Amino acid sequence: MTHQVPAGIGTRPHSARLYDFFLGGKTNYAADRKVAVESLRQFPHAMVAARQNRAFMHRVVRHLARDHGMRQFLDIGTGIPTAPNLHQVAQAEQPGARVVYSDNDPLVLAHARALMNSTPEGATDYIEADVREPEVILEHARSTLDFSRPVALSVIALFHFLPEEDAPYGIIRHLMDALPSGSALALSHATEEFDPEGMRRIVATYRAGGVNLTLRSHKEVLTFFEGLDLVDPGLAATCDWRLDLDTDDVPQLPGMVSPAESGVWA
Ligand code: SAH
Repeated sequence: MTHQVPAGIGTRPHSARLYDFFLGGKTNYAADRKVAVESLRQFPHAMVAARQNRAFMHRVVRHLARDHGMRQFLDIGTGIPTAPNLHQVAQAEQPGARVVYSDNDPLVLAHARALMNSTPEGATDYIEADVREPEVILEHARSTLDFSRPVALSVIALFHFLPEEDAPYGIIRHLMDALPSGSALALSHATEEFDPEGMRRIVATYRAGGVNLTLRSHKEVLTFFEGLDLVDPGLAATCDWRLDLDTDDVPQLPGMVSPAESGVWA
């Protein structure tokens, strides 16, 4: 499953590697670090925001697996592997959990081996694909996931990379329509509502580096959930979504309970 990193891959900044930098990872290039460092100057909370988002991913997956008995996950916009990865969180609750990962960054594919260490009773798979071609992802996922049983679709910190022209709401609808009743949607999305100035500056910095970010409001992000029932507490800042102090998986960060530093609806 491990592929060679294609030549020229590190010459332009990429969203996956900017996020990796903010999480403290090493899978990024000078072009990414240049934009990441400038982003930190413009929005000093970027590292807190990334960690809060990652911690939300852990909590939502644990919640779905533990409290909703979810055993199948389709994770699109997976990101560069960072332990624990989604399948490790899910399989800690449901050892037989099956997870299909997907991302459009070839660097994620190059590191996909770290996503393939499933439990023996569960399964993981990876497809390099663009979420704007949902049918390609669904077709591939059918070989690992049973679409007659509930599937949790997770698109964590992905859709702010899709402008209106890409019909983001239609893509979610397309994906959810393929899943049976009892399925779930886990989503997080950057917003300017907590810190308009800081977030506008980060959008400008990303754009100057060639990465387009579309921030959306609470109301707009709720549109992704149309026709679905929201679990408590509904759409909240990442830091406020079911913060669970009973586990040791709590980010110990300066901005741990500050939406302004989290910048993301969950
Ligand atoms: N879901 C992970 C990573 C978020 S970073 C987490 O929350 O921890 C966003 C990821 O989306 C990156 O890995 C980036 O490569 C991926 N991405 C961006 N645009 C995409 C697209 N059009 N199709 C598929 N993946 C995309």
